[in-house]
Amino acid sequence: MNRIDETGISRAIIAAYHEKLTDRIAGDVIIVGAGPAGMTAAYYLAGEGLKVTLLEKRLSPGGGVWGGGMAMNEAVVQEDALELLEEMDVRYNSCLGGLYTVDAIELAAALCLKALKAGAVILNLVTAEDVCLHGGRVTGVVANRSMIAGALPVDPITFSAGAVVDATGHDAVVVETLRRRGLIKSLAEGRPVCEGPMDAASGEAFVIERAGEAFPGLWVSGMSVCATFGGPRMGPIFGGMLLSGKRVAGLIAAALSGK
Ligand SMILES: Cc1cc2nc3c(=O)[nH]c(=O)nc-3n(C[C@H](O)[C@H](O)[C@H](O)COP(=O)(O)OP(=O)(O)OC[C@H]3O[C@@H](n4cnc5c(N)ncnc54)[C@H](O)[C@@H]3O)c2cc1C
Repeated sequence: MNRIDETGISRAIIAAYHEKLTDRIAGDVIIVGAGPAGMTAAYYLAGEGLKVTLLEKRLSPGGGVWGGGMAMNEAVVQEDALELLEEMDVRYNSCLGGLYTVDAIELAAALCLKALKAGAVILNLVTAEDVCLHGGRVTGVVANRSMIAGALPVDPITFSAGAVVDATGHDAVVVETLRRRGLIKSLAEGRPVCEGPMDAASGEAFVIERAGEAFPGLWVSGMSVCATFGGPRMGPIFGGMLLSGKRVAGLIAAALSGK
């Protein structure tokens, strides 16, 4: 066996990551949040040949999928999402009431792998802090290392793209950067900008139907749709998140191609 050189290991990591990061500073789509909605959107957008980068603040992509409901790692999906599960090679079991269960670990891992194999790049431990705004349009994301963000006085860097997606879940972090400055008003049609009480059927329909552009250049998908437009929360059912990601991908692909 060849001698393993510690210096070479370090050089390999630094060179490969530097190349990846440099390549991703500008692209077609930046998706903030690698939960089920963000990773599904990334899979479909990358499949369209677009340059897609996911920024994920945690170590592990997957968002809320891993824990299923109440930390029981089975995820529930409805019939409408079965075609998507099949495309992602995720196995499912039928249960009562037109619902299906999937192993939450398999779902999270499959979404991650499919997005990567389609060509998307995931940068984990990167926290989005703000947006770039030019001429009234969001043109990118301001981000920092998660270990640094909020902890040390170190400036962030920027990622530019033709479209930015807020897929950060309950907090709609990217939308919030505009809302707190009064740049986004009345999205929730008079209601406070936060998700409503639980109503699984309405919430699932809401995250799919209202996925779209919330501000020029800024799109919302998944649970951030409810947080942005005031829709009901839906509890531990994930089909709507997947279908919301697919829907926003179709809308962005059409918008970027000028259709
Ligand atoms: C860790 C976690 C555990 C959860 N557990 C449960 C549960 O047990 N039961 C339940 O009913 N619901 C749970 N939820 C909520 C539920 O899973 C979500 O409603 C569902 O997963 C929404 O999917 P999503 O893709 O919209 O967003 P999420 O699955 O919430 O994914 C959002 C992703 O965005 C990332 N993110 C957030 N802010 C930033 C930022 N500034 N920069 C970069 N990345 C960011 C998060 O780390 C996360 O990976 C959980 C959510 C999370 C994040």
